[in-house]
Amino acid sequence: MGRWTCRPSTRLYGLIGSPVSGSLSPVIHCTVYRLAGVDAVYLAWEVPRGALSGYLAGLRLLARGFNVTIPHKEAVIPLLDALEGAAEEIGAVNTVAVEQGRLVGYNTDYLGVERCIEAKGHRPRRVLLLGAGGAARAAVYALARLGAGELVVANRTTSRGEELAKWAASLGLEARAVPWSEAAKWAAWADTVVNATPVGSYACCPGEAPPVAAGLHSGQLVFDMVYRPLRTRLLAEAEKRGAETVDGLCMLVWQALEADRIWENVEPTPQLYQAARDAALAELGEAEPTGGEQG
Ligand code: NAP
Repeated sequence: MGRWTCRPSTRLYGLIGSPVSGSLSPVIHCTVYRLAGVDAVYLAWEVPRGALSGYLAGLRLLARGFNVTIPHKEAVIPLLDALEGAAEEIGAVNTVAVEQGRLVGYNTDYLGVERCIEAKGHRPRRVLLLGAGGAARAAVYALARLGAGELVVANRTTSRGEELAKWAASLGLEARAVPWSEAAKWAAWADTVVNATPVGSYACCPGEAPPVAAGLHSGQLVFDMVYRPLRTRLLAEAEKRGAETVDGLCMLVWQALEADRIWENVEPTPQLYQAARDAALAELGEAEPTGGEQG
């Protein structure tokens, strides 16, 4: 590993979204650049809704790439020059590469979901998906690629759940939407439960959980995309009932590593995953005494 510093050649990456003040992406990417010897830095820019196109004009000139988060993952699409296949199908972009002055949109969120499920050696067959927003769409795409058979979508707004189920069916899943209030019944049926809502997060409602506890059981994988806090009430309930768990930091780190692969051709290894995860945990003020969660 060479000395990691800033030079005239240093490449610029970053995150646009709102709010970004608590983002773990800078610490994750800068850890990867330092360990992989990449001559780059990664910053975070607070970009309110109305300011998106102005920022894109600036980043096109200054940056080699950037990540996109709430509330811009869908709004950014018409402002890009090209879309990679998965991003186009999912309808959301979380990674943009500046390629010869052109803004090219990618989605690495679904790769994050895939990596975290695969790392558990788990084969999803019957899935309960909580939520129907952009993250839920990325999950559906990943689950279809992982060969899941049946999908039940429980969403607060049932009509959005129905739309997502329809799209999932077009990807080959046997899919249906159910009311949010029936989530526990379907959790009992599922071998995989994915929370793609902010329920349980500091931003939404810390200490709360989607209404699935009564249906959680051993032999099941419970994946919570929330990472603030890391140990959500949903994961605590899942552990209490003997289920395997995946936390939201797993997805966050893998989607970041996949973005670095696109931008800088860095191979995402388990070692880089663990180092980036440890750096993020230190930033969160948490530590894993047992050597970390397998990502
Ligand atoms: P989004 O597009 O705004 O969708 C939010 C979803 O959550 C919708 O289905 C919404 O239901 C539901 N929801 C919101 N508040 C709720 C509540 N109080 N009770 C029940 N349902 C509620 O957001 P997103 O981009 O999909 O993100 C969803 C979550 O995943 C966020 O917490 C985000 O931070 C997290 N995420 C994590 C990662 C990671 O790497 N770990 C990556 C992406 C996203 P309605 O349709 O009824 O509004």
